[in-house]
Amino acid sequence: MSSEGVIEGWVSNVKILGKIAFIEVIDGLNLSPITVVVRKDSGSVDWSKVSAVKLGSAIRVKGVYPEKVVSKKGREIHADEIEILAEPRDLPPIDVTGKTPASFEDYINYRYLALRLPRVRAAFLARSLIVNEIRSFFSERGFLEVHTPKIVKAGAEGGATLFEVDYFGVKAYLAQSPQLYKQMLMCGVPRVFEIGPFFRAEKFSTTRHLNESWGLDVEMGFIKGMEDVLEVLSQLVVHLSHKLNERLGDALRGLGYNVIKPVTSVRVLTYDEALEVLNSLGFNLKWGEDFDPKAEKSLGDYLEEKGVQAYFIVDYPWESKPFYIMKKDEKRGYAFDLDIRGIEVASGGQREHRYEVLRQNLLEKGLNPEDFSFYLEAFKYGMPPHGGFGLGIDRLVMTFLGVQNIRETVLFPRDRFRLVP
Ligand code: ATP
Ligand code: MG
Repeated sequence: MSSEGVIEGWVSNVKILGKIAFIEVIDGLNLSPITVVVRKDSGSVDWSKVSAVKLGSAIRVKGVYPEKVVSKKGREIHADEIEILAEPRDLPPIDVTGKTPASFEDYINYRYLALRLPRVRAAFLARSLIVNEIRSFFSERGFLEVHTPKIVKAGAEGGATLFEVDYFGVKAYLAQSPQLYKQMLMCGVPRVFEIGPFFRAEKFSTTRHLNESWGLDVEMGFIKGMEDVLEVLSQLVVHLSHKLNERLGDALRGLGYNVIKPVTSVRVLTYDEALEVLNSLGFNLKWGEDFDPKAEKSLGDYLEEKGVQAYFIVDYPWESKPFYIMKKDEKRGYAFDLDIRGIEVASGGQREHRYEVLRQNLLEKGLNPEDFSFYLEAFKYGMPPHGGFGLGIDRLVMTFLGVQNIRETVLFPRDRFRLVP
């Protein structure tokens, strides 16, 4: 049955064949254009307007969805009325037909235009889907969604990588992570999660670091051990990878993305095992060293060959991890990383919840407990054993889509050279 409808969007292609016009319009959140078919003879549409329609215009079309679609792109509407809402006054700096590729920089500079291109649009649909799924995943499991301050007095791990803010004459910082606050909340709510931005002031020049990034932070109280945290995070990865594949997998692959396969379980390796693998691959790493990106990548490639795309590295040397990590033994901590395809996506662990020990840990890391007194205070009033993780949402989208640069997953990335737009 044919039915009537209205579409709104931007003209991405125009073809006029004699007395018929085919106008492709990118509408809604669709990943392929709808073809608007206009017949000169139909009389209902002003043909002079149609034949002059400019690429990139914003238009509204009223018409009929035909019973049988002939357009190869799969969607079609036969126009009864066309309204041109806005015409470009300049030639768009990005080819909106998608035929001529623009530079990587211009896809960011003109992100709003790039979003009309299926490939770019798809990445942000994937990101939106992932964030929605994260939210429902945790809400369904009894986690409270929280929002902690982004202007703070102390950093999570010291002062090295913070943006300074003049807070009415007092020195403050942009939050590098919700770590301290989410832990303090464990003294009043059993489980929390937060989706929010964090800021790091390092002069990065990599394809996986930004100065402003979005993270998922999770903290769970009354845990029996780090395994409880690993369990939730692995369920999350399984869930998200399935949802992404189910909803957008074919479309994304069709657009050239090397999408992660649905993950069935997340492999667990100890730090010692990972070190052994790396040294067998020709690295010469000493126990205690953190793995640099090259080592991470090699381990990722090694595991990918075995069909493993997501894995935990657990029981890191305590020395290489922050003060709030609980010690497992003399040398190791209850700390883990989640790596996906050779890139770190999350870090977490069980936290030290015993006031005295935590204070001692701060001292051992060369930090001053006085600077953390508001945080330490929360450990005096019945702080349960707890643990959690911080996960980079930009990194997650990056590794799930298999893109090489984190900037492809962020609308308006902030790096050392990018403050505008
Ligand atoms: P890396 O070693 O990759 O620099 P990190 O160990 O310093 O990361 P964490 O403090 O563990 O980072 O932060 C938690 C997560 O946030 C990381 O696992 C990563 O996914 C993400 N993340 C951290 N820093 C950045 C950044 N500058 N840009 C984008 N994502 C980041
Ligand atoms: Mg980390």
